[in-house]
Amino acid sequence: MQIGIPAETLAGETRVAATPETVKKFVAMGCKVVVQAGAGVAASCIDSAYEAAGASIAASAADTLSASDIVLKVAAPTADEVALMKQGATVLAAFAPHQNTHFDAYAAKGLTCVAMELIPRITRAQSSDILSSQANVAGYKAVLMAANEYAGLFPMMMTAAGTIKPARAVILGVGVAGLQAIATAKRLGAVVEASDLRPAAREQVESLGGRWLDVPMSEEEAAKALSTGGYAWQPSPEYIRDQAAVVDKAVSNANVVITTAQIPGRKAPTLVKAETVAKMKPGSIIIDMAVSSGGNVEGSQLDQIVVTENGVRIVGIGNIPALVATEASALYARNMLNFLAPMHNKETSEIVLNREDDMVKPTLIVDAGTVNYQKPN
Ligand code: NAD
Repeated sequence: MQIGIPAETLAGETRVAATPETVKKFVAMGCKVVVQAGAGVAASCIDSAYEAAGASIAASAADTLSASDIVLKVAAPTADEVALMKQGATVLAAFAPHQNTHFDAYAAKGLTCVAMELIPRITRAQSSDILSSQANVAGYKAVLMAANEYAGLFPMMMTAAGTIKPARAVILGVGVAGLQAIATAKRLGAVVEASDLRPAAREQVESLGGRWLDVPMSEEEAAKALSTGGYAWQPSPEYIRDQAAVVDKAVSNANVVITTAQIPGRKAPTLVKAETVAKMKPGSIIIDMAVSSGGNVEGSQLDQIVVTENGVRIVGIGNIPALVATEASALYARNMLNFLAPMHNKETSEIVLNREDDMVKPTLIVDAGTVNYQKPN
């Protein structure tokens, strides 16, 4: 059984889906691994390290893909990449199914497509959860990006020339990325406030030393929040109005704002209005981590830094994990290995997807050429 690791072709994608560490494990399972020359170089994985781990290096994408039964990728394959693949191959990637336009190509090639972002958030699946592993590194990097853009300082400093006040940071959306952003901003010395529509996030914010921005919630809504098992729910117009008022007050006084609120498969909610940005101090920084799914901040633009009339910089970098390619790839590659390893048959050395497994089933957006995925309404 051959596993192929092509170089990513999406602009700005620096990650790689397998590292020498994971290749070594696949080789030990009896798989032949082929890595495209240079595929890991931007993630600090050089060809000779893959070779030392037991892989062969192929000169081109065609040579990597044409005989591979399993293909490991970061970004969803394009129709051009699919054309180079073996008929009936199994491809694991972050397929972004709700915005993917290549389903016809996948079906025509008889592919089985495993959308890694659809792995359910159950305890057993945590070690394969690419959303968490990538959000974690992105939350960290977002704060460093903000610190870099910010012409002030994060910590309080007492100097002979006077005291410098700590930066005020507001984090909106306290999932995996938001929690890491709070922890990182605190480590750098900022005063941190945070909010999420999941009331359970309050305790996590406070345990990291952040201040919880409370939005009043009706009993009905509190019950709804609990019933969704910890995931985002659709708030009422009253909640959205009250949240806007809380956000407006906190953000207008902040030096740094990091927004992370996403709703899987849907447009991200708008949390920061243009009128609030207009009240911020010149030099303030906003990092909109939800920019690729529509953005949390009015005026943010994908892969641009927008400077507003009042001198606020809105940073909308779509692929933040790619800016931390070494560690993001190491974690992503382990997620892939952890997903596949339990399906390895020691007798035959084959990896066969267990379609009945409740961790595998929801990921199969295309199964042997049949498209299963339906966009949410
Ligand atoms: P996400 O990236 O989908 O969203 C980020 C945060 O934004 C979430 O906390 C969400 O509640 C919040 N949000 C969405 N809409 C909002 C709005 N209108 N206003 C304010 N906040 C809003 O989230 P995530 O990081 O993937 O985590 C989502 C949940 O999944 C969390 O409860 C997390 O603890 C849980 N989780 C569970 C597992 C597991 O394996 N059990 C793994 C990872 C995450």
